[in-house]
Amino acid sequence: LLAVGDELLEGRYADSNSAELARLLGELGVEVARIAVEGDDERTLAARIVELCAAHELVIATGGLGPTLDDITREAAARAAGVELVDDECARADLGAWFERRGVPMPQINLRQIRIPRGSTLVRNPVGTAPGFALPIGHALFVSLPGPPHEMRHVWDESVRALVAARLAAPLGRARLYLFGLSESRFAEIAGARMQRGADPEIGVTASDGRLSVLVTARVRGIGDAAAELDARARAAADALAAELAPHVYSRDEGRLELLVARELAARGAKVAVAESCTGGLLAGALTSVPGISASFERGWIVYANAAKTSELGVPAELIAKHGAVSAEVAEALASGAAARAGAQLALSTTGIAGPSEGSAEKPVGTVWFGVHWRGTTRTQLLRFPPGDRERVRRCATNAALHLALTALRGSS
Ligand code: ATP
Ligand code: MG
Repeated sequence: LLAVGDELLEGRYADSNSAELARLLGELGVEVARIAVEGDDERTLAARIVELCAAHELVIATGGLGPTLDDITREAAARAAGVELVDDECARADLGAWFERRGVPMPQINLRQIRIPRGSTLVRNPVGTAPGFALPIGHALFVSLPGPPHEMRHVWDESVRALVAARLAAPLGRARLYLFGLSESRFAEIAGARMQRGADPEIGVTASDGRLSVLVTARVRGIGDAAAELDARARAAADALAAELAPHVYSRDEGRLELLVARELAARGAKVAVAESCTGGLLAGALTSVPGISASFERGWIVYANAAKTSELGVPAELIAKHGAVSAEVAEALASGAAARAGAQLALSTTGIAGPSEGSAEKPVGTVWFGVHWRGTTRTQLLRFPPGDRERVRRCATNAALHLALTALRGSS
């Protein structure tokens, strides 16, 4: 993979395109051997393309296809292949139509974008002005894609995926597990040698804010392994792991907790409300990111000040004075207050110390109390997250609240 742009070298943005492509290629069973970054210098870039194409079967570049003179991927690829740039008539028609749809005349400078190296196949781009191209260079195929991530992704889905699959895809069997409340190292202890590179099937894990996403991959052992058999092998290994980790497994196919909560709410025709202190709206944000949630999401409160907890949600001032705002009692009162005022069957509350300062011996930074009200009963839960990173504490608390909600919803019929 080759990311092109001075901005990447200057740190103005990170190379998310290569990360996304690596993941997409992984799904096809194509192994990424290297990720390189180059600036907008035609000769240096051409030399890098030659080098990468000599060593790999496929090289996918992103970026540097814009209309301006500092976008030089076309020129560099032509130089690397030893061919000239030629106008592509299909690209000309697409670009003309693009500007016509917007009712603006095409700037002359955009005509640079219809030039592709001779011998290339055009990669049409219906969502931007920069088409890509695929060009054989030596034994390799060099594919150049637009830099804007949504354009890259669009052309991948529309055409590049099939092109790559036809050339390189290796059949894989895959199965997934999503876990909550287990540390990555504890997981690694349990999975043991099954996580070793080359294990068959091989288990991989990624942690994000309290969740673990586990991928089990079965690879071909010999020519003629049927795809169904690979899937069955991966699934059997995932089943075995799921049995060992049962209380932590919350899904076999979907990792987004907010989506799972939304599905459970919809299935029950139930409404949800949130009362947030330390998560400051992240919980409402996560839930409302799900399309169609308007049928279930009633309202949310961000009640940071003690006075707001009292006036908005009826948390008695004496309760706060006696137990402190970060306490089981207040978490419970917040959740039941939100449920009552919103007329929602499910209500979630968070109150904690996100840090980095203001912790105490009794309530260190990272201490968060949760309240979950579900159909008349309010439960509370205390969790302690590692201190130090305020945003991480807030994100972990958001996921934990969603996971508690999921558990409550699933525990009922
Ligand atoms: P444009 O026509 O927009 O110039 P382009 O194909 O020339 O498209 P670039 O100029 O390299 O692409 O990048 C356009 C934008 O796409 C950048 O400003 C950046 O926001 C994003 N982008 C480019 N490369 C990457 C990358 N590797 N990872 C993430 N974002 C990227
Ligand atoms: Mg550009």
